[in-house]
Amino acid sequence: MSPDCIFCKIAAGEIATRKVYEDDVCVAFNDLSPQAPTHILIIPVGHIDSLDTAKSNEENVLGHLLSAAAHIARDKGFADAGYRVVINTNGDGGQTVFHLHVHLLAGRPFDFPPG
Ligand code: 5GP
Ligand code: ZN
Repeated sequence: MSPDCIFCKIAAGEIATRKVYEDDVCVAFNDLSPQAPTHILIIPVGHIDSLDTAKSNEENVLGHLLSAAAHIARDKGFADAGYRVVINTNGDGGQTVFHLHVHLLAGRPFDFPPG
């Protein structure tokens, strides 16, 4: 756990947040500021700053986050309609919280490329 990291505190249950999914490796919860009718964040329980700093021995965690996104999409019933998975990375990528997270967005069509 990284001190002062808000997502570490959410993962550890120190900040009360309703989880939409959790297992040994990741935790998922609704974004505070949703950009779509469904906007879920999926984070590793163990702190990783960003996709940029993920180590080669953390590949299993990276894969797990994507598998969890697909599982949640199927479980919540929006997989067939479609969804968008986003990992903002560093400044130009728009990353604001430096605990790696996957955005899982659904409930409306999404433009590509994003703005
Ligand atoms: P980023 O911009 O780093 O890709 O995404 C960070 C996301 O975390 C934003 O969409 C923001 O709304 C969300 N967020 C920031 N702080 C909190 C929080 O305390 N709780 C929740 N549920 N979401 C948060
Ligand atoms: Zn953290």
